[in-house]
Amino acid sequence: MSTENISFASLNLAPEILKALGEFGYTTPTPIQAQAIPIVLEGRDLMAGAQTGTGKTAAFALPMLQKLIPLASTSASPARHPIRALILVPTRELAIQVEASVKVYAKHSALRSLVVYGGVDIKTQTPHLMKGVEILVATPGRLLDHVEQRTLQLSQVQMLILDEADRMLDMGFMPDLKRILALLPKQRQNLMFSATFSTEIKKLSEEFLKDPVLVEVARSNATNENVTQKVYHVAQDDKHALLAQILNETETKQVIVFTKTKLTASRLARQLVREGISADAIHGDKSQAERIQALDAFKQGKINALIATDVAARGLDIDQLPMVINYEIPSAPEDYVHRIGRTGRAGALGIAISLVSPDEEKYLKEIEKLIKREITKETANLPARGSRSASDHKPREKSYDRAASTPRPSPAKKSSDPWFDKPYEPTGTGAVKPQSNQLYKTSKPKREVAALLGGLPRKG
Ligand code: AMP
Repeated sequence: MSTENISFASLNLAPEILKALGEFGYTTPTPIQAQAIPIVLEGRDLMAGAQTGTGKTAAFALPMLQKLIPLASTSASPARHPIRALILVPTRELAIQVEASVKVYAKHSALRSLVVYGGVDIKTQTPHLMKGVEILVATPGRLLDHVEQRTLQLSQVQMLILDEADRMLDMGFMPDLKRILALLPKQRQNLMFSATFSTEIKKLSEEFLKDPVLVEVARSNATNENVTQKVYHVAQDDKHALLAQILNETETKQVIVFTKTKLTASRLARQLVREGISADAIHGDKSQAERIQALDAFKQGKINALIATDVAARGLDIDQLPMVINYEIPSAPEDYVHRIGRTGRAGALGIAISLVSPDEEKYLKEIEKLIKREITKETANLPARGSRSASDHKPREKSYDRAASTPRPSPAKKSSDPWFDKPYEPTGTGAVKPQSNQLYKTSKPKREVAALLGGLPRKG
């Protein structure tokens, strides 16, 4: 069936669902929705290849609701609201977002939904569970905690959805998934969504899907055509200066900057804040409240740069994100696809910039192999290290060409830069983004330019 020009109404969705979609302003299904919804309504198992940003959440949530609406009850009795659909997701943020979408789509039905995830007191979730919910969105570990505490029953689950299955495997959830599968009724419908199709994913799908229909909205492991990809070859020690330059020069209000580690994410966010770029970090060591706060501030435009690790950024639904920067490129090429999937959504144009040091060349090659294309290489115009001083703020004219091997003065080439080790102190400049190139203006306080050079002596 051609999936072009079809409407939600033509997919035979229930009036309650159509009403909610209409209120939300959705009229036309995205390709993954147009393909997946009829298959799920038919009762088939589904293996869907779709990245975040394709509308995959509604692709499983809408037909799921459609199947559950006849079973909805207005009774207050918990027994009338058993868990009928279980949606497993890898991260808390994704769990929150998926459940929020389910709530929107289910608002005109009597179906109840709930989200449970780790990192918060389990006792706060129990009373809600006890009241009964038809749709449970959960991270695997926390779901098992509840199973152990006997605060939920899975014996009436008729639909299982694994969202971002590839990420679940990457995060080591396989043993938890197996335990959960063993607790579910054998007779059920299974849907699996994954951005990439690795051998492990194929194995997992064979294990828990029955005669699935395969649906793919983009070539597996392909990257979005709407995203312009660029690589800057840059020495590790110069990455921060280049990042600050890019952030200062771009008109873009919202940029996600990816790092490999939590430590780098925190350090980088602190350093950018000190330079007057509004930034915050989001990673696994932050409390749930802090992560939500950072994400909200970013969504509201109070923060321009959100520095994130892969795990923390997974599943973040940030509309129309125009730019993604890989401060460090991932060693797993699939992560690159996930990362740049944050931008260029729903037909919008996006830019994905990767800062690649000589050590990372091998990973870049792997990425290009996976996405089956060569990424455009750009030359950075950074001032030479020696000339980047408080008394000389102007970028050099000379281009910076693969300077990793270029000998340079070696100021503060320490991984344990004392400036970084200073505890975070709010500067009050965090919310103000400097004008273009402000880093190099003479009016900039000396301290910040010196910080750009890679370090200031620790005070006190
Ligand atoms: P997802 O891939 O599920 O994370 O969805 C990506 C974004 O697309 C979210 O902001 C959704 O709210 C939005 N979206 C999903 N389906 C549609 C649709 N049919 N029309 C317009 N926007 C949509």
